[in-house]
Order: sequence, then C-alpha cells, then structure tokens
Amino acid sequence: MTRSFVNILLLLPAVLMPVGIQAQALLAEEVSLQRQIEVVEATALRDMLLNEENVIPAAHMYPEWKNTTVHFKAALPDSFRIDLRGFVMPTSNTKITDIFGYRPRRRREHQGLDIKVNRGDTIYAAFDGKVRITAYQRRGYGHYVVVRHGNGIETLYAHLSKKLVSANQNVKAGDPIGLGGNTGRSSGPHLHFETLLLGKAIDPALMFDFKKQNVTGDFYVYRKPGTRYIENGKVKIAGPEAKYHKVRSGDTIGKIAKKYGVSQGIIFKLNKLGPRSIIKPGQRIRYQ
Ligand SMILES: [Zn+2]
Repeated sequence: MTRSFVNILLLLPAVLMPVGIQAQALLAEEVSLQRQIEVVEATALRDMLLNEENVIPAAHMYPEWKNTTVHFKAALPDSFRIDLRGFVMPTSNTKITDIFGYRPRRRREHQGLDIKVNRGDTIYAAFDGKVRITAYQRRGYGHYVVVRHGNGIETLYAHLSKKLVSANQNVKAGDPIGLGGNTGRSSGPHLHFETLLLGKAIDPALMFDFKKQNVTGDFYVYRKPGTRYIENGKVKIAGPEAKYHKVRSGDTIGKIAKKYGVSQGIIFKLNKLGPRSIIKPGQRIRYQ
C-alpha cells in the first residue's frame, strides 16, 4: 500500500463508507504502511551493515580496528593457516635487495623484504581488503600503506612516492595502492613490503616469491615457535624465533655462546661471522 493510496482513502467522501468502517480501514492502512516503512528501514539497515564499506576484514581475529600502529602485541594462535589464493604480486619487479631479519650492519631488525622498484612504478594490493593505515614517516617508512585482508594478515607497502588510497577504503587484490619511491629512510627507490599477523611481522618470503612472481603455495601455515604439530605422520616442533644478544664491552663470541648454552659455530653461522670477526659493543648477535 502506497502513501498516495492512503491519501486517496482520506479523500473519499464520507458518504461512500460508514464512518466506523472508514476509520477502521484508514487505521488498517496506516498500520500496514507503518509496517512497510519498518520493513524498508530494517532492510536498508541490514544492507548497510552487509555493505562492504562497513565490514572489517578478519574482525573476529583482531581486537580492534585502528588507523594507527603498525606493529602491536596480540596473542598469536599456536598455528594459523593463511589462505594465499586470490593474491596479486605487489610489484612485477623481481630483484630482492634485502631480506627479512636482523641486519648486523645496521644493528636492527628488518621487518620486511626490500624489492627494487623504480620511482613511479605502480604498487598493487596483494589481496582483497580494507586500508587500515595511510601515513608518512619521515625517518622510517616514508609514505606507507597498511591493508588488512580477509585471510587474516595485513600487508604493508613503504617508501612510496605517492599513496593512491585512503584509510578505511576497500581494495581488491591488484588495485593500485601507491607508486614506488624513495621516501623516508631509504637509499634508492625500493618497495619495503611487510606481511603481518596480528601485529607481528613474519617473513614475506615464506609466502611471496618475488623472483617467480608467485606465492609459495595456496596456503601458508604459521606456527608459533616451539609448537608441536604432526606432518606426514611425524611429530614436529616449530622452529625457534630468532633471539639476540646485545654486545657489551669485553664480550667475545665464546662468552656469548657460553652464556646462552650454544656452540660458537652456531653463532658464526647465524651471524655470518668467522673466528676472526670483530664484534663491537652495541652490536646485536643472534644466538638462536
Ligand atoms: Zn626494508
């Protein structure tokens, strides 16, 4: 029943209908109309809630949706299967210029992969998702973008010359999200690419093979170090997380090895050092 029909009812000469019936009919129409409006409103609300604009990817896993803070502490599951299907490589460039992990030369953690790009090269969203952060860090990432994806991970794209998306915007895998550049702490145009699970950076090379322009498989299973699991009928233990010692005056590789109960050989290997290498105070030495 439309409003115009109700209006027509209102205009009907009273003589056509006994007053009581007329009033009842009007009342019935009003109730019906009211119900219809309620239904329409409820439908609109449902559509709005279902609308992609309002859906937070992987909302069940994450404590909140914030447009700040790339790395944060959250409880990680013992294992988590990341669906890599539907990926798009963020760049068609294939040259890795720095890997994930500790950089002895710079004495700090490198939380992503560096891929050589040219200034202005288009950088693409790796999966469907929603832009969580767009920001600028003069001494760090430069112009950067963080996208959260439905598969539970977040990807970060840094040192961009230009951002092409804004926070809370939905993106599809392969959508341009920025242009390659050299902003922030960067010596030469490159893409610093991070993959994060619940605020923790994990090695992108475990999932993305830039040389082959492909993912490493349909799925990647993250396992918390030390977690027992069964693979091919055998019980296995997930490998340890890297651990570091900060060198103090008077430290030697021998002393550090003894302190942590590991062999000197392991320390040499983990840090690409030899028996004649010199270590300096402040330097971080990986012992696990
Ligand atoms: Zn980097």
